[in-house]
Amino acid sequence: MPADEFRRHGHEIIDWIADYFDHIEELPVLAQIEPGELKAQLPPTPPESGEPMETILADLDRLIVPALTHWNHPSFFAYFATSTSAPGIFGELLSAAFDAKSMLWRTSPASTELEEVTLDWLRQMLSLDQGMTGFIYDTASVSSMHAIAAAREGVELRIREEGMSGRADLPLLRVYASEHAHSSIDKGIITLGLGQRSLRKIPVDAQFRMDAKALAEAIAEDKRNGIIPFCIVATVGTTSTSSIDPIPAIVEIGEQHAMWLHVDAAYGGSAAIVPEMRHVLAGCHRADSLVLNPHKWLFTPFDLSVLYCRHLDLLRRAFSLVPEYLRTPEQEKVRSGSDYGVQLGRRFRSLKLWMIIRYFGHEGLAARIREHCRLAKLFASWVEASPDWEVMAPAPFALVCFRARPAGMDATRLDQLNEGIMHGVNTTGKALLSHTKLNDQLTLRLSIGNIRTTEKHVKQAWDLLNHELIRLTTAGS
Ligand code: PLP
Repeated sequence: MPADEFRRHGHEIIDWIADYFDHIEELPVLAQIEPGELKAQLPPTPPESGEPMETILADLDRLIVPALTHWNHPSFFAYFATSTSAPGIFGELLSAAFDAKSMLWRTSPASTELEEVTLDWLRQMLSLDQGMTGFIYDTASVSSMHAIAAAREGVELRIREEGMSGRADLPLLRVYASEHAHSSIDKGIITLGLGQRSLRKIPVDAQFRMDAKALAEAIAEDKRNGIIPFCIVATVGTTSTSSIDPIPAIVEIGEQHAMWLHVDAAYGGSAAIVPEMRHVLAGCHRADSLVLNPHKWLFTPFDLSVLYCRHLDLLRRAFSLVPEYLRTPEQEKVRSGSDYGVQLGRRFRSLKLWMIIRYFGHEGLAARIREHCRLAKLFASWVEASPDWEVMAPAPFALVCFRARPAGMDATRLDQLNEGIMHGVNTTGKALLSHTKLNDQLTLRLSIGNIRTTEKHVKQAWDLLNHELIRLTTAGS
């Protein structure tokens, strides 16, 4: 593409993005299309010759936007609501322009060193101790998988060299996580060849936090049976309710048995940059690793997950493998990304996080997270004050679990009603909620994490929910 054409289309695209954000509230949050609808509109074969950029960009409006669920819509309250931000978009754009593959220090010194510095800034913002060194992966699923691999490497069973199959000398290795741990932990264990039976799920208390006493008993029982407990995964901000496992008590248990403690703070960890919320990471200064996702609650475009690890040597021992064609004279003096994971090439992800931290500053980021928590508490107060609704779990961050509970309905009807309310709200396109099951009861989740969400949007969601409740209960009576 000639430079003048690149410049022209580049400006058009930035204008397009600015307009998109200006008008995003006019778009339905949830894509209003049927499965297969987009595919049916796309040619099944690739174009034989190149097409003008104008035609391609026109199809963005015509085909792609209607098939998008708009995560940047301020009324996106589903899953963990997240959003990008302007400096993050610029960081992505520049990273694509550089197209660095930071596998070795020399293939991208900027990416390697900026990552080290930016993650150290973030560590300081989180008040994590200096022993924790950060490393970027794409997602928390991958970060946690690498943490468990490093923990396994520390068990000294020569698994890297000899594997786990066909070995009579290898007892069952066990990882412990609460019933509310994210499914990525199960997947990490499957991927590492440990097998699902290696994951023991520990019950939770009435507030959905890991029962530390049950954890201690499970470890003791496994040890009596010749099983090797080697890793505990605790969560700060579980996916269903955002509950916080009792890390200080879990740390004690882990240390007693010389086990690795990995903390999944993918969602909740970011809140620790707010000075008065630092306590959410209490006890984590004694954890071995901790994952946190800037792409969840630090306004960073997907994807960017950070693993803080106290034993980078073990991570390296688990994954470093340097063939002759990658050997460099400086390799002993520098950090090379490919030594710490399954990937060789890595994207220049730290650039966007560096730009975000610089643009907003620690205070700016903390102010936004603080406001999200305020809005969640406000919403929870409306739910609590209404006789037809109830809060289903504590809300330590910016996620509210709740459900409609009009008098005189049995459990099955309540589940149907809440499912109906959620479906009704979501199909309006004016807001998007998701759900979970708590104590076998269908529970609605309203998560606030979008940089554009204000009180007006939260109030609108509350009105929509009440409207649906009235519509469905009147229709049913
Ligand atoms: N851990 C927790 C607590 C989560 O809530 C999620 C996703 O929501 C994940 C891990 C997985 O995140 P990712 O999509 O970055 O793998």
